[in-house]
Amino acid sequence: VKKIAVLTSGGDSQGMNAAVRAVVRSGLYFGLEVFGIQRGYHGLIHDDIFPMDLRSVGDIIQRGGTILQSARCMEFMRAEGQQKAAEILRERGIDGLVVIGGDGSYQGANKLNKLGIRTMGLPGTIDNDIPYTDFTIGFDTAVNVVVDAVNKLRDTMSSHERSSIVEVMGRYCGDIALHAGLASGAETILVPEVTYNMQEVADRMRNNFEKGKRHSILLVAEGVGRGEDIGKLIHELCPDYEPRVTVLGHIQRGGAPTPFDRNLASRLGDFAVRKLIEGESGKACGLVKGELVLTDFDIVVNTKKEFNMEMYELAQRLSQ
Ligand code: ATP
Repeated sequence: VKKIAVLTSGGDSQGMNAAVRAVVRSGLYFGLEVFGIQRGYHGLIHDDIFPMDLRSVGDIIQRGGTILQSARCMEFMRAEGQQKAAEILRERGIDGLVVIGGDGSYQGANKLNKLGIRTMGLPGTIDNDIPYTDFTIGFDTAVNVVVDAVNKLRDTMSSHERSSIVEVMGRYCGDIALHAGLASGAETILVPEVTYNMQEVADRMRNNFEKGKRHSILLVAEGVGRGEDIGKLIHELCPDYEPRVTVLGHIQRGGAPTPFDRNLASRLGDFAVRKLIEGESGKACGLVKGELVLTDFDIVVNTKKEFNMEMYELAQRLSQ
């Protein structure tokens, strides 16, 4: 491998910049030429590719978002788009590609790998919905944003003995709700991996006040439904009880990445480059039980992330 390129794709996440920095600096350290691709697969198909040097990634380790920008690209979903992308990389002599993104981005990288382009994937998403890595880049920061918001809500909720429903992101994965819920002492956590009896949920929320609590927080993952709808349903089931709803939305994708996310991104970015140099391809990089691991895209994209039931039950035990 002599020339590699890096792109960010799908929803952005905090720490993508730190990952780009690691890919560029490690690549240059090992004597490779490194190129950046703007706007994910869209920029790749449109040959929006430029050389990157050591200084081009200065002052970005602490910044959210992605300097390479991200995009969703329909054209790349089709075989012709993928072929065009592979041709552009070949014409430029780029023989390794690092894709930073979520599950969809991995599927795209897998297609390129099958067309003979060496590819590596880095898990860049706040959702933590990618298997074969304990954490994705951006997840820790998003959890911090949620916990900070819940702390603020608690101040005002306990002054008025009210309860709050907080809708958080995560697509079909409940990890943001679970980790933020345990860390913020939420009374109830609703995740798509668990089914609920809403009457029980409503009764439990109302009973919190009878137990002497001064506030009650329910965290709902977006994969379960809209916070607004859950609030209405709870009010219908317990008419004397009306929780307030807060939707955190895209705030969860912003802000400076935590040191954890910066370090995860730095380690994975460097790992991807070293593995490309060793001749690996078609694989996703992850961190499992503290160890850096490679897993075939074919396995990663066909596996559902396991939900941590033990942690979920702990959150329930501790929120009595
Ligand atoms: P996140 O889940 O954080 O939003 P993601 O990577 O899953 O990130 P997607 O929008 O699903 O986001 O995918 C990003 C891009 O990857 C798509 O716009 C498309 O260009 C490409 N892509 C997604 N799925 C496929 C697929 N099956 N085959 C080829 N390319 C794909």
